[in-house]
Amino acid sequence: MATKSVALVAHDHKKKELVEWAKANYDLLAPLNIYATGTTGKLLEEGMRKTVTRLLSGPLGGDQQIGAKIAEGEIDMLIFFWDPLEPMPHDPDIKALLRIAALWNIPVACNRASADLMIRSSLLHDRDYAPVKPDFTSYTTRSV
Ligand code: PGA
Repeated sequence: MATKSVALVAHDHKKKELVEWAKANYDLLAPLNIYATGTTGKLLEEGMRKTVTRLLSGPLGGDQQIGAKIAEGEIDMLIFFWDPLEPMPHDPDIKALLRIAALWNIPVACNRASADLMIRSSLLHDRDYAPVKPDFTSYTTRSV
């Protein structure tokens, strides 16, 4: 079974909560490949003492990099503590990331309770389980 990959992203007012969550769930996260946007990744590396693949900072294109990796099948789940109380300069990128995760049937946790349920899911470690991969053949072969 290939090692699963998880992307972790948190907006500034949510970073502390995400790092706390990651530390509390270190044993479950340790076997996974972790991707993160730049600043989130730096804080996670400091907090968890685990190497994280750090992409660009979210507002500088990091959210789009994660979206591209989801589309290419490199990321299996997304934990994205976005801030519901702050407008962001990169709102279009955030929307695009959530859209691409929904499109490719990637599980997404947008808050700590959802992240708890996802990281503890037995399906995450079940060799016989693979999420349904969407078939876009009818879309890609449509006549235009
Ligand atoms: P950051 O990006 O981890 O570099 O702060 C997160 C975001 O704002 O999308």
